[in-house]
Amino acid sequence: MSNLDMTPGQRHTVMGNQAICRGALEAGVRVVAGYPGTPSSEIIENLARAADEYGLYVEWSVNEKVSLEVAAAGSLAGMRSLCAMKQNGVNVASDFLLHLAGSGVRAGMVLVHCDDPGALSSVNEGESRHFARMLELPQLEPGDFQEAKDMTKWAFELSEELGQVVMLRSVTRLSHASGGVVAGPLPQGEAKARFEHHGTLLDTNRGPVSSAPVSVKHARQQEKLARAVELFEQSPFNTYQGPEEPELLVITSSICQLYVKEALAMLDAAGRVGVLKLGTTWPLPPKLIQKNLQRCGRIMVVEEVIPFLEENLKILAAEMAAEVGPKEFLAKREGYIPSTGELNPDLVAEALARALDIQYQPRPAEYAALAQAAAPSTDSPRELAFCPGCPHRASFWSLKNALALDGRDGFICGDIGCYAMGARPSNYGILKTLHAMGSGTGLASGFGQLGRFGMDQPVMAVSGDSTFYHAVIPALINAVHQRSPMSLVVLDNSGTAMTGFQPHPGTQNNAMGQPVPPVDLEAVCRTLGAEVTVCDPFDLEATREAALKMLADQSKAKVLILRQLCALSPERKGKKLYDVQVDPDKCLGGQCGCNRFCTRAFGCPGLTWERETGRASIDEVICAGCGVCASVCPAGAITKTERG
Ligand code: SF4
Ligand code: SF4
Repeated sequence: MSNLDMTPGQRHTVMGNQAICRGALEAGVRVVAGYPGTPSSEIIENLARAADEYGLYVEWSVNEKVSLEVAAAGSLAGMRSLCAMKQNGVNVASDFLLHLAGSGVRAGMVLVHCDDPGALSSVNEGESRHFARMLELPQLEPGDFQEAKDMTKWAFELSEELGQVVMLRSVTRLSHASGGVVAGPLPQGEAKARFEHHGTLLDTNRGPVSSAPVSVKHARQQEKLARAVELFEQSPFNTYQGPEEPELLVITSSICQLYVKEALAMLDAAGRVGVLKLGTTWPLPPKLIQKNLQRCGRIMVVEEVIPFLEENLKILAAEMAAEVGPKEFLAKREGYIPSTGELNPDLVAEALARALDIQYQPRPAEYAALAQAAAPSTDSPRELAFCPGCPHRASFWSLKNALALDGRDGFICGDIGCYAMGARPSNYGILKTLHAMGSGTGLASGFGQLGRFGMDQPVMAVSGDSTFYHAVIPALINAVHQRSPMSLVVLDNSGTAMTGFQPHPGTQNNAMGQPVPPVDLEAVCRTLGAEVTVCDPFDLEATREAALKMLADQSKAKVLILRQLCALSPERKGKKLYDVQVDPDKCLGGQCGCNRFCTRAFGCPGLTWERETGRASIDEVICAGCGVCASVCPAGAITKTERG
């Protein structure tokens, strides 16, 4: 039984991402694809679990661009299709999306893109709504959980009416929070896929599919947007609440509309303020906007991060100035609403209080520190660190030592995955660049060419296994082809660990749990012409020596695969390889030479420091039994015994 099973007509409490899935099921979605990325991952996971029951095809694709292509194939063959990704993914998919926007789609196709304001689980807070405007696509933004379900269902109908892919944007606080959703009925009947391609190039339903001829297709694309405007003017997802002639008009979208409601309640100001909640945020419906701009002269725009709505509303207000009169905007550019980080009811209340001249005392800045001090806590403060038994700690330990032994001030270009924590001081601060998926290898390929300009530092890149398939392969091809003297270290922990162990092309099962042939990472690297070494990162000495050898060879691109299961993987979790102990008689502790080497320098959370005895010890509960610390202790005080 899937957690998307709901009784029609009844209210269920579900996560925003589940609500989106249920809406897709109610729309009769058949083909689903995506690439893992918080906060979007649960959409594909939930639909994959429901695949058998509801007759879907669901895949975790190798990257977002391919996932969009897979979903588009479904649409072009008459199957309603959905593609899901986080904000970074839209960048990756945008090349195909640009062309798909030009060609149009057939059966309903929805691209769900989930932004992460505040970068709670990202290394950026990119704003993917701009793609809708840039690529001339319609965009919807659900404002609560019911809308997440209802709007997703409607997005498929809209897509079919327009013959265009529809973007539906969520954010972390909608995707990951839970709320009430009344389920609707599920459609019945079989779906049969067929790609019609014998018509002319201009035959939308039966011809070949292309964004060419551009002059015709681009004009058609703009006609679709114009039709979207007509539909959005009437959309029930755009609502106004408040007095007919308010003192202030708030225009908002997404989960921010809930922050506005709460802030108005906190200030007891609902009678003074009108709220226009927009569910259709591109293209904006001008008649609706005009009608509401006429309500008052002061406009506050409440949205997160970049002023997407704000700028587009200001353009419309300027164009309509003769009809609506001059407007005073109180938004990001005017310093009322922050343009970085997440919003919350407190921040919105502060802005509203300022605009309405209400005395409002938000919690003082030092509130969090005072609350922390006042609350009794047994938690000891600790830095963000790799998990106990994480193979990345062992890998980075060896790479750090190899770079130090090499002695030429070499460095590592990082990449996106849980190993990105290697940039933090608590994880040796070993990563010196950190950007997009695959960028570490591309940067290392470039750094490797700078010897001709006197740069004598060796360079390495790291990548996870999922990232390798996603975006590293082209960069590695470049490094091999250009004879860049760099080393790529693939941290192969056999799954997409950071987002919850989703399968990737190197694993033996697909999203629906079916067996599939794994694409051999090592064979791919060798086929590309790279020299490949494979090591177990728990073997610190062998790993260090392999890394040193690679650093010494400045003639070509090389690959070191460090293969060891993630400590939290379903195969490894809770299973200790070793029983590990500290011999208090051998432990030097803080008394002499080692200066708590294991807890201070190596830093696995499974090692603790006992103040009373002045000795290290193993925390049996936390220790994952990898046995690596036994190789780290200079006094040989840590022993490991293999478990049977
Ligand atoms: S266990 Fe080893 S590394 Fe840790 S404090 Fe004792 S002697 Fe030092
Ligand atoms: S064996 Fe040592 S390094 Fe491994 S998890 Fe336990 S304490 Fe940490």
